[in-house]
This record gives sequence, C-alpha cells and structure tokens, in this order.
Amino acid sequence: MALALPIRTRFAPSPTGYLHIGGLRTALYSYLLAKQNNGQFILRLEDTDLKRQVEDAAEAIYSGLKWAGLNYDEGPDVGGSFEPYIQSQRLEIYRERADKLVKNGNAYYCFCDETTLEQMRQEQIAKKQAPKYDRRCLKLSKDEIQTRLKNNEPHTIRMKIPDNRVIEVNDLVRGKVTYNTNELDDQVLLKSDGYPTYHLAVVVDDHLMEISHVTRTEEWLPSTPKHILLYEYFGWTPPQWAHLPLLLNPDKSKMSKRKGDVAVEDYIKKGYLPEAMINFLAFLGWNPGSEKEIYSMEELLKDFSLEKVHKAGAIFNIEKLNWYNQYYIKQVPLEELAKLCIPYMQGSGLIEKFPISNFQFPNKFQIPNSKKEVDFDWLKKIVALEQERMKYLSEIGESTKFFFHTTEYDKNLLIWKDSPEEEIKNVLQKLLEILEKISQDSFTKEKLQELIMPEAEKFENRGLMLWPFRAALSGQKASPGPFEIAEILGKEETIEKVKKAIEKLQISPNPSSYQVRGRL
Ligand code: GLU
Repeated sequence: MALALPIRTRFAPSPTGYLHIGGLRTALYSYLLAKQNNGQFILRLEDTDLKRQVEDAAEAIYSGLKWAGLNYDEGPDVGGSFEPYIQSQRLEIYRERADKLVKNGNAYYCFCDETTLEQMRQEQIAKKQAPKYDRRCLKLSKDEIQTRLKNNEPHTIRMKIPDNRVIEVNDLVRGKVTYNTNELDDQVLLKSDGYPTYHLAVVVDDHLMEISHVTRTEEWLPSTPKHILLYEYFGWTPPQWAHLPLLLNPDKSKMSKRKGDVAVEDYIKKGYLPEAMINFLAFLGWNPGSEKEIYSMEELLKDFSLEKVHKAGAIFNIEKLNWYNQYYIKQVPLEELAKLCIPYMQGSGLIEKFPISNFQFPNKFQIPNSKKEVDFDWLKKIVALEQERMKYLSEIGESTKFFFHTTEYDKNLLIWKDSPEEEIKNVLQKLLEILEKISQDSFTKEKLQELIMPEAEKFENRGLMLWPFRAALSGQKASPGPFEIAEILGKEETIEKVKKAIEKLQISPNPSSYQVRGRL
C-alpha cells in the first residue's frame, strides 16, 4: 500500500504492570507500518485512568518491546521532540484544549455527581432506554454555571454530540463503517480530578504528536466516531485508522489474564525466542496470502501490508507458537543456544548461579548439593541433544535433570511392553557386561552402538534391550537415545545407573513385602 509520507505511528498502552501479548501484536503492526515506510514509531503511555506508579509499570512495557526488537524512535525513556510521552505529565495540555471546546460551544460543564448519574441510569434502564446522559447540565444558565464554578463545585467537561448525524469511519482494515450520533453519549472529556478521559487525551496527543496512522484493536472502533467529531471541533485533520482483529482464546473468548498467560514477561520466562514470538504474532491477524509461514522481521518489513489484515478475530493457538519456537530454537547456533539455556539450568537448580559481578562467563559450573563440577562443553553436549526437541527453553530443566542428579523413577518404567521383569533384569545384566569391557576413553556413542546393537538385534524386537537401557539412564518416559546419553554421562555413571536399575528389579513385586519393609 503506498502511503503518503511522513508516516508516524504509535503504540499507546495503559501501563497495567505488564505488557499484554495482544498489545505486543498491536505494537508490531504499528512498528511494521512505520518502518516499512521509513517512518517513526512512537511509544506513549496512556496512564490517565490509573492510580498506580507509572514508572514501575512502564518498565515491563519498555523491556518487552525491546526484547521483541520493536525499538521506538520516541518514547518516555528515550525522549523525542514531542515530550512528555506520559499522559499524566500532560494534564495542562488537555485542560487547555477542553476549555477551548467549552468556549466554542462544543463541550459543556457537568456538575452531576455519581449518585445523580447512577439514579439517571437506573431510571432509564427501568424505562427500557439505553443509558445515556440526559444533558440536564446543558440547560444550565451562564450565570448558574459561573456561580457553581466560583464555588469550586466538582465538575466534569462533557462533549456535545450533535443530534442525528451520520459519521463515517474509513478504516484501513474494515472499510467504511457508519455510526449515527444518536447512538453516542455526551462523553466526559475531562474528569473532576482534572485528568482527561482516554478520548480527549488520545485525540489531542495523536494530533500534537503528528501521528499519521493509528493502529489499535477493534474494541476501540465504536469510540472512533467520537474522535472524528473531536478532530472536527478542533479543526484538525484526523489520522488514518486501522482497527485490528482481537486476539481470542481457542474457545473464541477474549484473551484475559484469568484464562492463561497474557503477559509477555511470562513468555520470556518460559523461554520463547523473540523471533518466534514476532513471527507468530505477525500471523495473528495478517496473512501473506501464500504458503510461506516463516518470516523474519526483515521479511515482514517487506511483505506486511494492512490490506492483508483480516477482520475476524485471531485465535491464539499455543501449539502454533510452540511450533514456531521449536523451529527457531533449531536455527540457533549451538554455542549461543547453550548460553541462552544457562539461566534456565540455573533457575531449575541444575547448575549453581554464578555471581553477576563475574563478567567473565565461567568455565566451570557447580552442580548444587554435589561435589560435581562440569564445564561449558559438557553443558553444550546436553543442549545439543535437546535442541531438536525443545519447545521452549525452560523445558531444559525438566528434560535434562537426569544428567545432573540421580532421579527417582518407578521400576515399571524399565519394562518393555509386557515382557517379564526377570527378562529385563537379564538384559540389563548383559548390558552391564558389555559396558564394563569398554574403556573410559572409547566410551563414545559410536562405540556403544557398535557393541550393543548386534546384541539388541538378537532379540525379536531390539526395544527389549534399548528401552530398559534408555529408561535406566534417563528415568523418563521420553528422552534422547541411550547411546547419546551414555556418552555424556561417561562410563562410571552409566554403569552406576544400570546397576541401580538391576537393583530395582531385584525388589520383590509383591506389594505386601513393601509394606513389611516400610514398617521395619
Ligand atoms: N490506551 C489504549 C489501550 O490501552 C490505547 C487505545 C488506542 O490505541 O487508541 O488500549
């Protein structure tokens, strides 16, 4: 889509303490639109509705956007020529503009308090009317208004909506959408505490910050006719709007904190890569119209277009996100992936944390509660084994713990299909003999394979030997193959684990004997 220059887009979240995943998708689209047209992408915090400390809550937004690579040209923490970018620091600007609207007869003072308004609402509901401000303060005389203002009576400023006018929204995604002003309420623009409402602040700021394109989710579409009227009242040219489809849960409900992870931070903690997240989010509402599913940011900048953004809500499918993440994890060079995995290994207690002051990446890593010390190359081997299977980085803690600690497992795990325990025990015994004959130096997966496979093939199904071997080493239902694990564990530990498995099978399966042992 050829857009007239200059393009300035913005992402305008309300700082709630976390960056919503849907917000990140909106930010991505705004970013793409700006950057593919050599424009600017701006971050503005819309905190006029919140009592909390904006600085703290803002941190999650700054870091989430930076993590995703959506670097903004202007914003609260990076500055810019339209400062400040935090609405609570712009109250004077809104007050001034609201006064101007009153002066021009496009807005009026309203002295109704909450109780009055609630009563009005209840009466309208009882009469089966749509709740709407009944404009009683519009009828106040100039003198009365002056007196009440002089007496410092709490008041708001309301927008005067014209009667029975058709307002057209020409949306870049949804096309022409029309509204009749009779459906609109005389919106409060300035609250009694001096704060603007979203409607006043968003219009004033988008204008003053010279925003050319507003991308936001569909839920804001019904507010747009009010915004169009405000632009008209101020005598300003409105920006172009693109209302994006909502992100939905698989059951089509709106994504919310109650229903699962919505904070970008949670996805970062789980170990999703920014490339995967960006690629996944780009497709939540947009489609290139081809089979191509893998898109880097550069490719998105080339191919993304608002024309291909669809209207229907986009389902947030975690399986698809996992698929993307798995794909991107496979692309990361091993050395780098291992470094990315280290904090997750530390977080799940596989290796000890090293002091942050250590700028030098350590060569040795302590295993907690053990005298064992391992090096980065050893960790790299483990990561290499997992690289193909990992859906997100935090899985590494659970899936590789058996390399670090002795893990408990049920002896039934050792049993291949329904073979008798006795047979499994003999198989493991046989394995032990083979393993003991291999020297420590040649304890490689190739050597192990060479010696063990011919033995395994002697059985009707080689699983009879390979399954208990793998289960003995990993103690898990699913893991990499036994030869790879054995090489990393080394001869001594491999033998120890096979012996432990044999011991487990020596314990009588009779449940009563367990009880006796338990009592002793
Ligand atoms: N502050 C609004 C929000 O949090 C912004 C809506 C808009 O982009 O106009 O969604």
